[in-house]
Amino acid sequence: MSQWPAIADIAAAVQAGKMSATENVEKALKTIADKAEYKAIIVTLDENARRRAAEIDERIKKGENVGRLAGVPFIAKDNFLVFGADTTAASNILKGFVAPYQSTAINKLEAEGAICVAKANLDAFAHGSSTENSDFFTTLNPYDKTRVPGGSSGGSAAAVALEMAPFALGTDTGSSVRLPAAFCGIVGLKPTYGLVSRSGVVAMGSSLDVIGPLAATVDDAALVLDVMSGKDALDGTTIDRDESAYTDLGTELKGLKIGILKEYMDENVDAGARKNIEDAIAKLKAAGAEIKEVSVPSMHLSLAVYYILCPAEVSSNLSRYDGQRYGYSDTNAKTLDDSYNQSRSNGFGKEAKRRIMIGTYVLSSGYYDAYYKKAQTVRTKLINEFNKVFGEVDFMLGAVSPTPPFKIGEKAGDPLQMYLADLFMTGANLVGVPAISVPVGFSDDLPVGLQLLGRQRSDRQLLGLAKRVEELVA
Ligand code: GLN
Repeated sequence: MSQWPAIADIAAAVQAGKMSATENVEKALKTIADKAEYKAIIVTLDENARRRAAEIDERIKKGENVGRLAGVPFIAKDNFLVFGADTTAASNILKGFVAPYQSTAINKLEAEGAICVAKANLDAFAHGSSTENSDFFTTLNPYDKTRVPGGSSGGSAAAVALEMAPFALGTDTGSSVRLPAAFCGIVGLKPTYGLVSRSGVVAMGSSLDVIGPLAATVDDAALVLDVMSGKDALDGTTIDRDESAYTDLGTELKGLKIGILKEYMDENVDAGARKNIEDAIAKLKAAGAEIKEVSVPSMHLSLAVYYILCPAEVSSNLSRYDGQRYGYSDTNAKTLDDSYNQSRSNGFGKEAKRRIMIGTYVLSSGYYDAYYKKAQTVRTKLINEFNKVFGEVDFMLGAVSPTPPFKIGEKAGDPLQMYLADLFMTGANLVGVPAISVPVGFSDDLPVGLQLLGRQRSDRQLLGLAKRVEELVA
């Protein structure tokens, strides 16, 4: 049993005066301190969190309605701007940068009474699949300290699995909510592109980046999405939210058409994970879902396309860190050019530099057509192929990751192996569709996630299906 009840129940208890926001914040901060050895957290926001909790408790005493997340503590990946808090994105170049404003997602959560208690570790700038690319430290997997928690939102996922808070926020550009959720045995949702505002979140690949909740259950993730989603004047790519609440999870299995995505269940999938996934599929079938195999024929190109488009966007987004406006600035530089060069040379880690170089290369004159343009063309092809499959089935499913959580150090020296950890996940980002990772059991005592993918804007129905899976495998 978790030390945290369902999020809706915590909020109801706080609102009813049966639990206090202060008690919840203290519990979260104590758990963070007690489990510091996992290195999930970069910084705690003790003072702010305690002040907000006291305010909320005061308002409740006065009979005010605080909101749907009254007194619920949460943890944000350290690439979210939280007003007045350090925001490093786990990169040395942002050390000392204090957020002058706050991300829309956090504003919306706070407006409903949630309290941000800490900022979680990540691969620097969210580049990675294990948190080993963090410039500060590697987070340990809650189930096996010799293994990675997944990435890039590894600190957020580990924090939820370790019960430091009932939910955490992550970002998913190519895998980063779903992979750590799978590796830490929790739920992680990558919503439809544009459903949650990216305003106030450190940009990675702007056409791919999505913000998503990490939580213990589908209900919890759905509630957080319900609060965060919707159009935002500060992010022109945002879309209208569903009229129905995302917590309305009535998806019926009977007659539901689900495609087993051949490319996400290929021979790369580890045998133990495959067994758990196949058991879940059998249960879905027994419950009345119509299951058949489907294929996205160009899927084998998705990782290559991602690793052209993503670095291209990264190289552009990281150009703003020039040592003048944010965080670290080399004080030995004599000229402005030296200041740019030295600040960037010393401030960026290896992976950020690798992506800047790849991205600049694929966008450079003479190579643009061969790489960037070709990748964009294949991206469109993937969109068409996804649309075709979604004409035949309502949802697709497959593995999240080909392997269980890998050992710390196992892939860290080989970027290509690290990139391959995302083999089954970048497709959803390239196409913009929602996808979710739901725990479906354990293999050799390590958690296994099932990935479900839906049509654009089918987030509510997708969450409903995820909830059915959660019930079936319970
Ligand atoms: N692992 C992928 C990468 O390194 C995706 C990261 C992410 O989704 N932020 O780019």
